[in-house]
Amino acid sequence: MANWQELDEKYLMNTYQRLPIVIERGEGNYLYDNEGKEYMDLFTGLAVNVLGHSHPTIIQALKDQSEKYLHISNVFLNQQAIKLGKRLIELSIPGKVFFVNSGAEATEAAVKLIHKWRTRQEEDRSGVVVLEKSFHGRTLGAIKLTRQPGIYQDFPAADYPVYEAEPENLKDLEDVLKTKKPAALLMEPVLGSGGILPLSKEFMEGAASLCEKYNVLFCIDEIQTGVGRTGEFFAYQHSNVTPDLVLFAKGIGGGLPLGGIIAGEKLESLFEPGDHGTTFAPSPLSSALGNAVIDVLYEEKGLEYGKENAAYLWQRLEGLQGKYPEHVEGIRGIGMMLGVVMKENASTIKALQKNLLSKGFMVNVTQGNIVRLLPPLTLRKEDTDRFVTAFEDEIAVIRKGVSS
Ligand SMILES: *Cc1c(COP(=O)(O)O)cnc(C)c1O
Repeated sequence: MANWQELDEKYLMNTYQRLPIVIERGEGNYLYDNEGKEYMDLFTGLAVNVLGHSHPTIIQALKDQSEKYLHISNVFLNQQAIKLGKRLIELSIPGKVFFVNSGAEATEAAVKLIHKWRTRQEEDRSGVVVLEKSFHGRTLGAIKLTRQPGIYQDFPAADYPVYEAEPENLKDLEDVLKTKKPAALLMEPVLGSGGILPLSKEFMEGAASLCEKYNVLFCIDEIQTGVGRTGEFFAYQHSNVTPDLVLFAKGIGGGLPLGGIIAGEKLESLFEPGDHGTTFAPSPLSSALGNAVIDVLYEEKGLEYGKENAAYLWQRLEGLQGKYPEHVEGIRGIGMMLGVVMKENASTIKALQKNLLSKGFMVNVTQGNIVRLLPPLTLRKEDTDRFVTAFEDEIAVIRKGVSS
């Protein structure tokens, strides 16, 4: 049998610390490796598989579209993409969609569109404000907006100013808007890689009105938070705000690459033929899957079940926090985007993650001490019960270590 780990190291660049696991197939909320071992997928391919694996509605859409055509290019009208664009607008803000293939490309399109807007303003404005610890992608246009050590390095990034503001600090944000005269504010409603940090309704609404006051575009990165993950289609919809621009990707393609931007009335007509483009997006196949995802969320009540499932997971995890406050500092996030903040050091958390994996539970860790969960909306109560029991057993292991 091939040694996949050895071949991986030999032929693929070492940019991820991969687990030595060969996944054979996925079904529902579980993945199975080539030795038949089952893993509960509480990570969903980094917030992509919002409906778990091999959802029948998605597989049917895949079959139907693949029998027609896979790619036709932007030269022709693309029925699946038009249908999806219409639905995305109806689910968000009046405006128009531009499709891309990934999250970083959505950020790239946003940066270009913001630039087009700024050149049409009377006042000289430039650049983008982002929040500390934000993540907006890794391409040369996006990397400056990603404020994380290790990712934001001295690569030759695109030439535009970027400013940082502190999350939840409206005064700091106002200072930046007033003194730096940026063109746009871009933020994640729940900072993902930054540690599952949900922005409060007050901050979201305060930031939106500051943007209006200083003529700054209010742009929301929904790449990780979108497509139902937090219980609304987009997470900004928990607050009373109307963004000028919404970025999406990850979950929308039902497992295939797809992303884009939704531009509101100020921005929808600024791109003209030649201003931007991509060969592949919108892939008819990815778009068909996007339509299937929306079918499941709204016609098959996927969003409603997701909210119930998330509420139960929260209830159980909060129970754990109440029982072990000396180990679990708190649970934060919204819906199926959670961080279990632990009062343990990074090596203890690494061991916890490894033990959970060997018991068949796939979780992610961010910022050293936060167990990041991005479960599918389809996570059933019995799955949650199994996971929370395993998690509690791991806390017992930590407690034993403390007492011995
Ligand atoms: C993942 C992510 C991106 C980048 O998306 P890619 O598809 O990996 O390029 C941008 N913003 C946020 C909030 C993300 O979570």
